Amino acid sequence: MVIFLCPNCDKDISSRTQLCPYCGYQRGEVTDEELREFRRRKLRDRVYHLKMASYVALTLLIAAFGWYLIDTSGFQYRSSVGPYVLFAAGAVCYMVIRLYLYKSKAALRKFNF
Ligand SMILES: [Zn+2]
Repeated sequence: MVIFLCPNCDKDISSRTQLCPYCGYQRGEVTDEELREFRRRKLRDRVYHLKMASYVALTLLIAAFGWYLIDTSGFQYRSSVGPYVLFAAGAVCYMVIRLYLYKSKAALRKFNF
């Protein structure tokens, strides 16, 4: 087995594979099985990253709630729009991420029947 650099993304790939596992660059004849495995792995990575992103969005929501509590407690009521803006931004991000996550998971399920 020889390791060489992928001409497309400059990452180390094995000479045994005709398909770069990082960018999908095809060196020669690629079997359907290789292509399928590549797509499945890319989708799995995407689901993982979307999950991480959804946790970040949830953290924004919690932070907004904490900010709201700090703002409304204490001697003087300070009505700031900050917590609401942060909450709205977090909620929109979360919903968009969940939508992509749902689509990616549905696509991934087709690979694992
Ligand atoms: Zn590559």
